[in-house]
Amino acid sequence: MTSIGSVTRQIAALEITNKKPAVNANAPQTTASAPSRAMKAPAPPNVSKLLTKYAAPNPYTSSSSKPINPSSLRNPTTTTGGTITASSSTSSLNKVQPSTSSKPTHGGQPSIDIGKYDGGLEIDNEKRGEPVYGDAAEELALDSSVSKKYPTREWTLHDFDMGRPLGKGKFGRVYMVRTKAEPKYILALKTLYKSEIVESRVEKQIRREIEIQQNLRHPNVLRLYGYFHDEKRIFLMLEFAGKGELYKQLAKQGRFSERRSSRYVDQMADALTYLHGKHVIHRDIKPENLLIGINGELKIGDFGWSVHAPGNRRKTMCGTLDYLPPEMVEGKEHTEKVDHWALGVLTYEFVSGFPPFEDRNSVQNTYKRIARVDLKFDKDLLRYEPTKRLPLTEVSKHPWVVKYRPKDLA
Ligand code: AMP
Repeated sequence: MTSIGSVTRQIAALEITNKKPAVNANAPQTTASAPSRAMKAPAPPNVSKLLTKYAAPNPYTSSSSKPINPSSLRNPTTTTGGTITASSSTSSLNKVQPSTSSKPTHGGQPSIDIGKYDGGLEIDNEKRGEPVYGDAAEELALDSSVSKKYPTREWTLHDFDMGRPLGKGKFGRVYMVRTKAEPKYILALKTLYKSEIVESRVEKQIRREIEIQQNLRHPNVLRLYGYFHDEKRIFLMLEFAGKGELYKQLAKQGRFSERRSSRYVDQMADALTYLHGKHVIHRDIKPENLLIGINGELKIGDFGWSVHAPGNRRKTMCGTLDYLPPEMVEGKEHTEKVDHWALGVLTYEFVSGFPPFEDRNSVQNTYKRIARVDLKFDKDLLRYEPTKRLPLTEVSKHPWVVKYRPKDLA
């Protein structure tokens, strides 16, 4: 049964409920006022533009950190009614709806093909994971409809058409999905098996990752629109990064052009400025944690190591060896300047194809090279002393960054 609390929350979250999607400029026109065109075969839809249109909104423009629309995927429709609450039977939640057609239409206009669902969630659910109990169950009962800061509507698997698998992560699969409700947003739905989280003893880390990510809104930070859970799993409704993983592109191409590297560094500096302004230190910036949006923009994902640390100095050793700064290698306290260092390492890897302190034969040598900052390269971000690392505002003004910035973003 829907509780009064949930109804109140839904009413409070109606900001974008009845917004009709903008008219699709790419849709084939067959109106009476254009008879000659009506005879022509419709032009194939521009997938990139369509995807952009149906992607769940990120309320910031790509060139500034100012919100253009404070609403999110709080409640995409009022017409679905029948919201299924936590009391619904688990078995009914396990049967999810595959995408009904490969080329669904949206108000008569072409829509996005989300691909074929492979039934992976049901297969996994039969043989993978056990329900968890006690403190762990409480820790992992994650539901964005009761989030303190940004409560969403209540979500369940029934709210989505399932599409193609996007990949497999440590704790479960990721699928391309579409909300059944208008305006049929495209999302990436990530599954996490609770028992596997408990086995890896990362309940708190996962909870923290989810809570941090749901509070972030920046064009270069992967949005988490909502989350829900059932007996065995947690589901994350993530922004769909249409061009996939950055490290795969880097591996394929060897290295990136100066222009492309510079654009990514600009976007990283902007995103890190935003995160640090919210006292979030990422601590695990590396190509494997970066995704690419449908328009080629970089998205920081994976907040597993990030920490919300207002004014705190931290001492936990974390991150990937090649991207660790000297203060972490030496077990000293660290600040948000660890992300400046990682941006320096990333810049190097973008333009050269490999990280600057890599020694494939010896981990000890990598440690030593990091501690000595053993490098012949522009070291503005790779200073041993954290406070001497180039401020992010200076990165954004750096001639190499400004040189490649498109005029409309200047
Ligand atoms: P993860 O569990 O985050 O490692 O995700 C597993 C794989 O799913 C990744 O390697 C990506 O290929 C894919 N993936 C994860 N999140 C997204 C997303 N938001 N958009 C597109 N693909 C994704």
